[in-house]
Order: sequence, then structure tokens, then C-alpha cells
Amino acid sequence: MTKNIKIFNTLSGKKDTLKTLKSKKVTLFVCGPTVYDFFHIGNAKTAIVFDCFAKYLKSQDYEVFYLQNITDIDDKIIMRAREKGVPPKDLAKAFENEYFKNMKALQVNSVTKYAKATNYIPEIISQIERLQSKGYAYDLDDGIYFDISKFKNYGKLSGRTVLQAEDSMSRIDYSKNKKNRGDFCLWKFSVPDEPSWKAPFGAGRPGWHIEDTTITEKFFGPQYDIHGGGRDLIFPHHEAEITQMESISGKKPMAKFWMHTGFLTTNGQKMSKSLGNYVTIDDFLKRHPYTHLRFWVAKNLWHSPIDYSESAMIETKMALEKIEEFLRKLKNIKKLDKIQDKSVEKSLKKIETEFYKNLADDFNTPKAFAVLFEFIKETNKLLDQNLVDKKNAGLIYKFFEQINGIFNVLDFKKLKTSNVPSEVLELVKVRENHRIAKEWQQADQVRQEIEKYGFLVDDTKDGAVIKKI
Ligand code: AMP
Repeated sequence: MTKNIKIFNTLSGKKDTLKTLKSKKVTLFVCGPTVYDFFHIGNAKTAIVFDCFAKYLKSQDYEVFYLQNITDIDDKIIMRAREKGVPPKDLAKAFENEYFKNMKALQVNSVTKYAKATNYIPEIISQIERLQSKGYAYDLDDGIYFDISKFKNYGKLSGRTVLQAEDSMSRIDYSKNKKNRGDFCLWKFSVPDEPSWKAPFGAGRPGWHIEDTTITEKFFGPQYDIHGGGRDLIFPHHEAEITQMESISGKKPMAKFWMHTGFLTTNGQKMSKSLGNYVTIDDFLKRHPYTHLRFWVAKNLWHSPIDYSESAMIETKMALEKIEEFLRKLKNIKKLDKIQDKSVEKSLKKIETEFYKNLADDFNTPKAFAVLFEFIKETNKLLDQNLVDKKNAGLIYKFFEQINGIFNVLDFKKLKTSNVPSEVLELVKVRENHRIAKEWQQADQVRQEIEKYGFLVDDTKDGAVIKKI
């Protein structure tokens, strides 16, 4: 177990040591989807990052309460439902189901509780009433707004001036008579043909930001450990959440750590529905296994952008094949005799420590996986010389299973069913020895033998990789 976990915190602008409100417990809230359309692999990136991170915290003996909201009432839902000629409720339900289906297919399964906004209307009303009674809210013809000039720390998360990018300015509520441009809507008064709920201050529906603070207050109270989401949500969404909740409770900060994922881009542009440059999760999964998306996301730094391309997917596939091949070789070690060479034991201990050390340092997965690949390369050399015994092979295999509990990038079931026969493994070793002795002709003959068994050998810089034809 790692004692000091550091993560980059948008609120402080630096890496901070994770200190939770309650020892060994983490309250984690991550903004979930607005359910009005199919979900793309950019949405999946953020979901995968936090799934891995939550599983990592669990692996470090934290009890994690991972909460995620579902925005099932919003302007976008109403507009799309109108276009399609269906009730907003039905549209939202269909895409909520689609989201759950996608998450299941991607093995994103660490969320403790999904909370739908429309299930918490009385609690939303209570938050608005408390803001009204403290003088933070004012009425206009179309709704109730928050007066940001009344909250003196407005802008502490986003440092607004640096976040003038078009995308971050989206989803601000527009209304002619607002006191300040950044004032946001807490409650939209009911208009014909739109869903609405009764409230003491007038029937209507909630604004976007109040949905999340209501849900976090309901399950965590006014203060919790980590709030996450994509970078696009820093402003105005997360700034507004802080403004609302800290005004209501007076407790600061609402969340101690703010984790924002880097965008998934295509040709350098954020993948988004509005730009139309997206690949849906469904389409992706028709062409690639879920493990490829997970591994590609997992091996990159969580708060850096990653650019999607087919060549990135080919590289990912090849990197995963190296791991799979390595594990197959380990699985196929049959000999029980002990080997005196202790180097593999030592290097396994060393990489276990280094791997987790890198994860503890801002969840630095690129460095952690680099350590892993170096280990594979070195151990492959020992495997080729028969210097790994069954016991150590089992320990290495177990370590990879443990890692996979965090990242879910390997399909162990598939690995178990596609074992390479021991005859083939023996032939690969014979061929390797011919290659070392530069006996190319003999090496080629053995390759042909291997092919008769239905396997191909690829020579990579990290050693031979065996594939089924
Ligand atoms: P939305 O339904 O647009 O609110 O998005 C749901 C989640 O996906 C939010 O946490 C967004 O920040 C995140 N998200 C949307 N687009 C991308 C992208 N291109 N890359 C990474 N995360 C994204």
C-alpha cells in the first residue's frame, strides 16, 4: 500500500497529497452524461480515467464511494426530443440505457451510485430556497438566477481570464436582464410543452449546476474529497457548483480535490457532438475490442490530451499483444524444477515497487507502463534462455492479474483459451538459439515448422512474438 498519493489539483494548480476527510475513505463525484444522444469515445475517455483511478484507490485499501449524476432534464434533451417528436422523458430514458450499456461494454463498473437529477427535485427546491433566504438569488421573468457578485471567491477554480476558449464559454444561461453576464440559472420557470415540477417559488425545472450540488449534498454532505470531470466543465459548470454550495453551507472548499481530464481530440480538436468529429462508443466497439480503448486511455497521462487515430489504435494493439504474448509464455512454463538464477525474482520486486510509486505520483500511468514494458523486455530474454521457473512465472502472472484489476486492459479469459502449445514454444526457443548463432537457414526451417502448427513468429526489438495464424 502506498502512503503518499499525489494528484494534480485544479483548485491549487499543483500536485497535492491526497488527504481525505475520513481516514481510508474517499468520496468521489464525477460529472456524468447529459442523456440526449449517443456517447462518443471522448465521453468514454473521462469515464475510463476515473474508473481506473477509483480501482487504483481501492487497490490501495481505500473505501471509495464513487457517485455519478445523470443529467436527465436539460435544454439539450428538450430540444432533441422536440426534433424527434418524442416526450423528453422517453428520450432521456433511452439514452440513459444506452449509457449504461456502453459502460458495461467498456467494463466501467466502479461507480457506487448513479443518481438521476429528476429523482431529487424536492432536494433541488430546498437548495434554491436556502440560496433565496441568504440573498444570493433573484427572480427574472424566465427563472431564478444566482447573483455571482455576491460570492466573493467567484472564479477561484477557473481563474476565469485564462479560460476564454469558446468551448468553456458554452452552456452559460442567457437572459436579457441578468445582473451580471456570468449569472447562472437555478430554476427555469415553466413554459408550455416543457416538463415542469411544482415549487413554492413557481413551477418549472432545475438549472444544470444545481442538479449536481443537490446530488453531492444528498450523498456526501456539503464537503467531500474529490470532484472530477473533463476540462470543459471547469467553467462555467464547476465554478458555478462551488459558488452555489459554498454559499449555501459556508463550508470551504466544497471539494478538496478537483481532477480534470485532458480531452480526447481528433486532428488536435476536441471530440464533441457539436463539432460532429466524433466516433461513438458503439462504432468503436464494432471495430476494436474494449481493451484497446481502455489501454490507450490508461497508458496516457490522465490530464493530458490524446489524439485519436487509426495508427494510435494499431500501436495500442501491438503493445497489448506484447503483454499477451509474454503472459502466454509464462503460462506455458511447465517445468517444476527450481532455477538457481535469482534475477527474475529481484527484478519483479523492483518493478512492483516502481510501478506503484509512479501511480502514487499523480497517477502517472505512462511512467508506470514504461517500467512494465522494460520488465517484459528483460524477462523475455530470460525466458528464451529457460531461466524462469514455474513459481516465478506464476508470481509475475499474478502481478499482471493484480494490475489488470485496476486497468482492465487484458482479457484473461481469452488468454487462457488461446494457449500456445508447448511444442511451439520449444520450437520458438530452438529458432531463437539459431538466430543468436546467426544460423539463418536453420532458423527459417524452424519457422516453417512453427507455421505448420498454425502459429507465426514476429521478431520485435523486445524478443519473439507468437501469433495464431
Ligand atoms: P457531457 O455529456 O457532454 O456533459 O459529457 C460527459 C462527460 O464526458 C463530461 O465529464 C465531459 O467533460 C466528458 N467529455 C466530453 N467530451 C470529451 C472529450 N472530447 N474528451 C474527454 N472528455 C470529454
